Amino acid sequence: MEDCIFCKIINGDFGTEFVYENEDAVVFKDINPKADTHLLVVPRIHVESLNELNDEALLGRLMMTVKEAAKKAGLKSYRTVINTGKEAGQEVFHIHIHILSGDIRL
Ligand code: 5GP
Ligand code: ZN
Repeated sequence: MEDCIFCKIINGDFGTEFVYENEDAVVFKDINPKADTHLLVVPRIHVESLNELNDEALLGRLMMTVKEAAKKAGLKSYRTVINTGKEAGQEVFHIHIHILSGDIRL
């Protein structure tokens, strides 16, 4: 999607480094980390939020991607967060899963 910051990142427009990637998703560091390690798992397809995601197999694979990215980052213990909707704190309307580990400042 043209005006979506995460679509632009996935497209390589900003040269963002991916700490992990697979067919379904890319994983990169949050620009404003709220923990010692703060990663974002972002599907390659543009879906606004969990409310618009109807592909349950993709959702399952995204959670497997969380696990694989956490393993690659050497994280044994971590919190996953999905903000859905503005009132819940969602700022970027391209669904993503936060991975937070270490000192979490949320
Ligand atoms: P939300 O509040 O939508 O659940 O999370 C959006 C997250 O994306 C925030 O933690 C914010 O810091 C992060 N973010 C926003 N813009 C950028 C960006 O351009 N690059 C990166 N790496 N992270 C971003
Ligand atoms: Zn997008």
